[in-house]
Amino acid sequence: MIWRCNEIKNCPGRAHTMQGDIIKSIDNNHVPDVAKIEAKKTINLIKEYATTTVTTTRAILGETSG
Ligand SMILES: [Zn+2]
Repeated sequence: MIWRCNEIKNCPGRAHTMQGDIIKSIDNNHVPDVAKIEAKKTINLIKEYATTTVTTTRAILGETSG
């Protein structure tokens, strides 16, 4: 996934991540606002958690005995 800086127009800042690790990054042309980046990450984690939390309940019926 690609994190794109949108703090200012035409900023080349990017971060490419794979499973939480930064594999490639392009520097900002200004001082990045870390607080904003962290906020985005948190939102993404919440979304991921929501989609992966699946509860399955299964009742085994009709077991036979010899
Ligand atoms: Zn930037």
